[in-house]
Amino acid sequence: MLTIENLYVKSEDNEILKGLNLKVNKGEIHAIMGPNGSGKSTLSKVVAGHPEYQVTGGSIELETNFKMKNLLDMEPFERARSGIFLAFQYPAELPGVSNFSFLHSIFNANCKAIGAPQMDAMDFKDFLEDKMKLLDMDESFLSRSVNEDFSGGEKKRNEILQMAILNPKIAFLDETDSGLDVDSLKIVSAGVNKLKNSENAVVLITHYQRILKYIKPDFVHILCDGKIVKTGGSELAEEIERTGYEKFV
Ligand code: ADP
Ligand code: MG
Repeated sequence: MLTIENLYVKSEDNEILKGLNLKVNKGEIHAIMGPNGSGKSTLSKVVAGHPEYQVTGGSIELETNFKMKNLLDMEPFERARSGIFLAFQYPAELPGVSNFSFLHSIFNANCKAIGAPQMDAMDFKDFLEDKMKLLDMDESFLSRSVNEDFSGGEKKRNEILQMAILNPKIAFLDETDSGLDVDSLKIVSAGVNKLKNSENAVVLITHYQRILKYIKPDFVHILCDGKIVKTGGSELAEEIERTGYEKFV
């Protein structure tokens, strides 16, 4: 579904990704692990189309309905409408924008893009309540501004709530586990597992192995200094837990 080949990325004069390859098929869960500063967030932001980064080589292609789309030619909103989703490591706060209006707007924009019927506020509220139950979020989250004064864990849940209503083809979850206590980690993981099916894919970016106890990856990749240096199964995550990243650097 997603094919990244020989990707080179820089920001200003800093070369960050240096020949990265990654293939994700539908139905798969990939974990990308690596030391701080190795380029994990950069990878997810470049796939989403963050303007701060320049792609200087390689390609990113998404297959939808048996057609290959060159993501690098597309604006971030076009990538989102094609089914790319990014849960940010550091979600932005949008003071003055109610979370309910925000969620309702992104939901309807997505429906419009994929040719599905839109929902009025009443119907959307019912639809949303189901999704919020999944993530054990209460209604007070809806009347507040997007992420404003949310705790770290609440912001992460709000990211997964967006994933739940957009139903993306491929979701990059950037350190969704950081800042979550054990109970929240279990709830968020259960939510992700419920949203996962044979038609979509998840790329889980994480520094630690603990979330992989709850979300079982098919593949684990180690990203070091802008390149994937090793790929394996979940046993690779256990090895890192024991030995650290040192020997891969
Ligand atoms: P990770 O998520 O693996 O911790 P990042 O992708 O955030 O790593 O960062 C990788 C490297 O690129 C770091 O050295 C970081 O300082 C640098 N970097 C990230 N974003 C930018 C940017 N916008 N401008 C310049 N350097 C950046
Ligand atoms: Mg990061």
